[in-house]
Amino acid sequence: MPSICNAFTVQVYTPNMSPSEQYTWFITGTSRGIGLELTKQLLQSPHTVVVAACRNPGKADSLQSLTTSAGGRLYIVRLDVTDTQTIKDAAQETAKIVGEKGIDYLINNAGIGIGDTAFTMDIDDLTKTLQTNLVGPAYTSQAFISLVEKSKKKTIVNISSTLGSIGRDFGPQYASYAVTKASLNMLTYKQAKERPDLTVLSICPGHLQTDMGGENAALPVSVGVAGVLKVVTSLTPKDSGSFMNFRGERVPW
Ligand code: NDP
Repeated sequence: MPSICNAFTVQVYTPNMSPSEQYTWFITGTSRGIGLELTKQLLQSPHTVVVAACRNPGKADSLQSLTTSAGGRLYIVRLDVTDTQTIKDAAQETAKIVGEKGIDYLINNAGIGIGDTAFTMDIDDLTKTLQTNLVGPAYTSQAFISLVEKSKKKTIVNISSTLGSIGRDFGPQYASYAVTKASLNMLTYKQAKERPDLTVLSICPGHLQTDMGGENAALPVSVGVAGVLKVVTSLTPKDSGSFMNFRGERVPW
């Protein structure tokens, strides 16, 4: 995917909270890439409990290896965002894990993308990308809403991409991916409008060196993820319904 980010100074994630506070995070797509890095960085703080979802926990070796040093603060659950039954099951399992604390931060991160164009895209690929990048997050937010609304932070984060911005001109490439991220951004807007008691954000993590971003991406995954966590943990209710990047700047819709 093309580079969309300028140079960025690494920010250390320092959550602004008292030592007695602990917040719960639920993240999809944690087997590798951004989801795995989010889980790693969050567990470095004693203030976090992470429920990490992935479609195949038995094969998520890098994720499983984090349990050793997590001090009982990492729970791994199965969730395929294209399979509503696994989303329902994961919500029930998570409810038992977090109890009355609920989920402070729901992070819809799992996603896929291919480099196609509007008139050549394979319609099955478009359907699969939409199912993963839009329908999955929409249903996950519905299934987890009762856990989010009982938490202190009540925050939903949809991991989007600047490639889905009409206000930025990236030309004809990555058409199906861009269409799904633009749709995800509208989902963010509608979720925020319907529920002013929640904080809902679309955020672009930057062009990062993951399987999706490629090895020539602009930034190491650790940098973009540190930025995302800084932005997300600094959100206020007035930010709800907006589209930001990992530097905390507004991205045009
Ligand atoms: P990767 O391809 O490195 O990782 C994708 C993750 O999503 C994997 O854990 C994968 O699991 C999971 N996933 C894919 N499909 C499903 C599914 N059906 N159910 C559950 N999990 C699934 O991508 P990134 O980490 O780079 O991307 C993460 C998010 O960030 C995506 O939403 C992407 O669009 C967004 N993003 C990434 C950018 C980048 O430069 N990397 C830039 C802008 C946005 P499995 O291992 O099972 O396949």
